[in-house]
Amino acid sequence: MKIIETYNTGETFELGRQIGQQAKAGEVYTLIGDLGVGKTVLTQGVAAGLGIEEPVNSPTFTIVQIYEEGRLPFYHFDVYRIGDVEEMDEIGYEDYFYGDGVCLIEWAGLIEEILPETYRRITIEKDLDKGFDYRRITIEELP
Ligand code: ADP
Ligand code: MG
Repeated sequence: MKIIETYNTGETFELGRQIGQQAKAGEVYTLIGDLGVGKTVLTQGVAAGLGIEEPVNSPTFTIVQIYEEGRLPFYHFDVYRIGDVEEMDEIGYEDYFYGDGVCLIEWAGLIEEILPETYRRITIEKDLDKGFDYRRITIEELP
């Protein structure tokens, strides 16, 4: 387990960039944390680290956004609005989870039952005692 503390948006982006640079084909990352904590900021860093130049935002009307211009395919899920895990079946999530790209899943706690056996969990938390822009980011390799 690794804990990284960031004190501004840029540091979280930079952490994501390093993760994207080191990511390997087939890896799945989950992102846990409240609304506005910085999941998308970190995701944008991962995309940059993979060499993706087009803008990355949270997919609003689709569960997954696919980027193929980088070093590896990048599958960005945001399952915040998912009603039922069956919606994941409908988009054929297994092709992504068990494919040759890098998956990153915002709000992965909502689809816990279908997560692969092995994945990396990134948890982002605020601690207002340490300032409004402080974030504690925990990276765990599961299991
Ligand atoms: P989420 O995807 O978790 O809902 P976003 O990444 O969209 O959150 O938004 C995070 C917000 O918090 C941004 O406005 C960002 O500028 C701000 N912010 C402030 N400090 C940090 C930090 N240390 N790391 C990441 N984001 C931060
Ligand atoms: Mg988001």
